[in-house]
Amino acid sequence: MQRSGANGCYANYIVNSYPGSILHTVVDTLAAIRRKGEVTPWFNLWSLVGLSAVLCFGLMILSLGAMVKPDRSGPVFSVYEGSCLFASDGIISAQEAIANDQFFKCNSDDIPISTEQFWLKLPLAQAGLTSDDLNLEGDTAPIEALHIVHQGRDGNIVTRTILPDEIMQSWTAGTRFSIPLSKEEVRSATLWLGVDKPWSRLAVNDLEIMSLEQAREERFDRTIWFAIFCGLGFLPVIYSISFFVALRYTFMGWHALMSLCFLIYSFSSSGLIMQFLPGTGMWTRTLLSYTALSMASAFAGYFVISFLEKDVIPEWVKRSMAMASHLLIANALFALIVSPYLPFIARNIYHLAYLPAIISLLISSTYALTNKSKVVWFLIGGWSLTAIAALDRIFRGMDIYILPPELDFSLYPCLVLEVIITAGGVAYRVMSIRYERDEARVRERELARQATTDLLTGLSNRRQFEEDFAHSKNAALALLDIDNFKQINDNYGHQVGDEVLQTLGEVLRSFSDQDWCQGIYRLGGEEFAVLLSLQSEDAAAICCEQIRIKCEKTVEAQIDALSQAVTISIGVALAIGTAKRALYRNADVALYHAKSEGRNRVAIANKAYGRSAKPFLQVAIRAGSTKN
Ligand code: GH3
Ligand code: MG
Ligand code: MG
Repeated sequence: MQRSGANGCYANYIVNSYPGSILHTVVDTLAAIRRKGEVTPWFNLWSLVGLSAVLCFGLMILSLGAMVKPDRSGPVFSVYEGSCLFASDGIISAQEAIANDQFFKCNSDDIPISTEQFWLKLPLAQAGLTSDDLNLEGDTAPIEALHIVHQGRDGNIVTRTILPDEIMQSWTAGTRFSIPLSKEEVRSATLWLGVDKPWSRLAVNDLEIMSLEQAREERFDRTIWFAIFCGLGFLPVIYSISFFVALRYTFMGWHALMSLCFLIYSFSSSGLIMQFLPGTGMWTRTLLSYTALSMASAFAGYFVISFLEKDVIPEWVKRSMAMASHLLIANALFALIVSPYLPFIARNIYHLAYLPAIISLLISSTYALTNKSKVVWFLIGGWSLTAIAALDRIFRGMDIYILPPELDFSLYPCLVLEVIITAGGVAYRVMSIRYERDEARVRERELARQATTDLLTGLSNRRQFEEDFAHSKNAALALLDIDNFKQINDNYGHQVGDEVLQTLGEVLRSFSDQDWCQGIYRLGGEEFAVLLSLQSEDAAAICCEQIRIKCEKTVEAQIDALSQAVTISIGVALAIGTAKRALYRNADVALYHAKSEGRNRVAIANKAYGRSAKPFLQVAIRAGSTKN
């Protein structure tokens, strides 16, 4: 089926030079691995693209090996190459076409894009087809009608017109049709084929005549392969939809849509749809496959944008990726709505619309790789094969043939692989997002802890006190203040002062597991607060007295640098029937009272005290001992 001519030479050039470039890439990559540290991102990208290309070709050859039978056992007559062609501007009858023999051009490469109808004249007698049972095979590209014309023994022109419905009924895997020729048609020296309003060149240049036996052999078990591909593609669709419903990550939604459209594409483009939905028309199948592929590629673009880590691709790259995807959505609509009215040229425009997306993908991957994205590897792994197969498809779709037509099928396994690899990427991305979120939560908790903790003593700070105090119920408040602390700083230095504060912090913390202790705070400077679950003055007096004595004794025992006692004064207020603000003020007044009464003591604000101008304060217990 491959055609000779200028394009054929170009294909040879590419194929011949390719092994050299693969070898070059492999050698470069090995050298890079040895150098390790010197590897630049650009270098990495190119070696990766090269290696992916090797993989891609391996995969293509494997899949094609399974799908395509390389040796044809009988002669096959490529209608387009072996016949003479007449491109008519309008629909004419077979008689008119045959009467205008001078318009038939032989060995012409040219299929004009504005042609309404093609006539092909086949010198069947010279084609070397020996069998009596011959089949006409071709691509099920949309056409309006196919005419098979021969000259009967009596010299009359006999026309058999086959409409799209009948063509579709003779569907074989790989989107081909297969129509048996009648004995008379086979035996006539010349056969004419008329193709009305073909939408694609494939409708003309893919026509073949072969023996029935050969046709059966040609009918590879592609159906099974396509079914396997569609089955494999179905799993990621289910997976992504379920996870999107459960977790609501945007990129999962795009992945689900992308996978679904690729599935619809494989299902319709391979022709499986005609197996499952036999009434499907030629245009329905074609437009569904064209639209689904374009939509899938657009969703793939949106997927890439939301899938990559934050800030690994610049804003302008994101924007161009989005634009390329919007273009593909428009392209899908174009294929669906407009293209049936534009023969030939529509296919070229349609395929051209994929190029910006492929270029954007390459740029995005490069940026992501340079910025040390991890998930980009899933894109590279999934897309490098597909992008190469897609490029082949684009060139083929634009009628620039550079590779054997069988490679056309490589897009299907590539797409399945792409969907599966990116599904793995989706799982990885979710895991990494979860991990990042957990880390952020731990960090947040730590920051919150730091924000409510006093650095020097490790006790909760005033901020925490304000909150706890506001939420406390019936808690008594004790305010503690070191006596003459300024003096201690002045006499022994700030460092010793700090040591005193730390020691007192430890002493206070040692009370934290007591039933009556709700919270201990350093309010600032040398002032502390304790929230007490106590309602009686006596109990409060006993507990605070314990604190006072333990503070004095511990500082004396632990800080050798001090030759004078460090004492504290405590002011306590009970909560019964007292508003928070008054409670604090009462404790403060009690503390003031303890100080003014000579320090080193506990004072309890009488609960009767409140608005009374003359506070009645009970000075509790006794004045503490003083170091000699
Ligand atoms: P009173 O018995 O009336 O409470 O007298 P005082 O000297 O303790 O009170 P004053 O408020 O005059 O002095 C408090 C001192 O506490 C002044 C300040 O230098 C000291 N101070 C505040 N924060 C720190 C700190 O973090 N470390 C040290 N070493 N000293 C501090
Ligand atoms: Mg003070
Ligand atoms: Mg003080």
